[in-house]
Amino acid sequence: MIQSRLEAVRDRIHAACVASGRAPESVTLLAVSKTFGPHEVQEAFAAGQCTFGENYIQEAVQKITALAHLNLQWHCIGPVQSNKTRLVAQHFDWVQTVDRLKIAQRLSEQRPAGLPPIQVCVQVNVDAGPTKSGVLPADLPALAREVAKLPRLSLRGLMCIPEPASNFVAACVLFKRARGLFDALNEEGLALDTLSMGMSDDMEAAIASGSTMVRVGTAIFGGRHYPA
Ligand SMILES: *Cc1c(COP(=O)(O)O)cnc(C)c1O
Repeated sequence: MIQSRLEAVRDRIHAACVASGRAPESVTLLAVSKTFGPHEVQEAFAAGQCTFGENYIQEAVQKITALAHLNLQWHCIGPVQSNKTRLVAQHFDWVQTVDRLKIAQRLSEQRPAGLPPIQVCVQVNVDAGPTKSGVLPADLPALAREVAKLPRLSLRGLMCIPEPASNFVAACVLFKRARGLFDALNEEGLALDTLSMGMSDDMEAAIASGSTMVRVGTAIFGGRHYPA
């Protein structure tokens, strides 16, 4: 089941790349395994998937530890509070949700010496909703410049989670705004290679707008069941 769903998602990514004249290898698939167990992750791995995204730190650390022998790559895509930065710095390869300098500084300070720098995306609040996480577009360049200076972090790009749009064109407006911010930082010389946007329901619009990484949960693992 997971294998055939993964194949269907890869086909969608491929078709979306072709439709917008992009190379299919230009988009990475991150499998979002939150709420699913090591067994499902292993099943996806057996079908060739090696990069996984997790939202909840404690839950993720259990899975990462249980599956350490597989050498998977783990991305933190959930909010990171100050009291969780040490766990994140110890266990994850990537953090896509940095939206404050303080969190970035803690991750850099707490990254264990034996590990490579932690790979980071700054989360940007492209629709500028007041209650949402992510840095506002106006504050992004200053934060990105500061994050890029931290010794034990490697700034790789931007991540965004816009509100679900009612149609393809509306989704593209927000995704293209993120792409514009990404391009502007690169013009400044930051050398970013990752623009993480697009999920199960809107990956086509994200790819058409220049996403380089889609984060897909439901379309691979099925519906999630949260504990009551
Ligand atoms: C859960 C989640 C996803 C995956 O969403 P689906 O709609 O299940 O594909 C992607 N990104 C983030 C940040 C998430 O929290």
